[in-house]
Amino acid sequence: MIDNVPRLFIDGLYQLGLQLDEQQLQQLVRYHHELLVWNTRFNLTAIRDVEEVWLKHFLDSLTVLQAYDVPNVDLLDIGTGAGFPGLALKIVRQRWHVTLVEATAKKVTFLRHVIEVLQLQNVAVLHARAEEVAHQQEYRAAFDLVTARAVASLATLLEYGAPFCRSGARMIFPKKGNVTEELAEGKRAAAYIRASLVADVPVTLAGLADGRRLLVWQQNIPCPSRFPRSGAVMAKKPLAM
Ligand code: SAH
Repeated sequence: MIDNVPRLFIDGLYQLGLQLDEQQLQQLVRYHHELLVWNTRFNLTAIRDVEEVWLKHFLDSLTVLQAYDVPNVDLLDIGTGAGFPGLALKIVRQRWHVTLVEATAKKVTFLRHVIEVLQLQNVAVLHARAEEVAHQQEYRAAFDLVTARAVASLATLLEYGAPFCRSGARMIFPKKGNVTEELAEGKRAAAYIRASLVADVPVTLAGLADGRRLLVWQQNIPCPSRFPRSGAVMAKKPLAM
């Protein structure tokens, strides 16, 4: 099984201190296979190269564990796309309860297919927009950890994410490149939604050493009920202004 898995991925797991069993590796291999197959029919992800999927999707998703790793978690992944980072984390942390929110129907169909073939338990897929789900009581302040990768600017992600957070919960947003201005806006937005930046963790794994980092926020008290605003209002008037 390990023959199908690139060396840089295995090295990355080692650097992250992660040990996957045979079943977990098999699940990743199958997930990888399904992603490449579905990608020829639907445009699920721009990353199609065999090794790049292992590094830039799977390993990159697992770097979240550098910043947060506890045995039992209610995780929400916003704009999960083809399942990153949420579904990759679920495979590696099978006791976690994971909810994936995705607005695009074909991606939701793919996610449900992968969950079924991998026989994963305690993972739900919501075909919805985060800013709408956030006002449903069932999901409000119901999570310990919220993630979102490559979905929106930090200020928007904080407004999407905070309403889902229990007090003390974390939001982790992976980012790449120069985010100085975006981070300043994020900090201003965080004051409105009652969160604060608690860590800025550099990702330095071989194969991913291109200026990646994890911005980790803590929800200090419950997010005020008027957030998130509608998508239209958010677009017109970002919180950080
Ligand atoms: N997180 C994945 C996908 C990134 S692409 C990855 O890193 O590979 C961004 C995804 O977010 C798209 O699939 C898009 O449909 C979804 N998305 C954007 N805004 C959203 C929202 N408000 N609610 C739910 N999904 C959203």
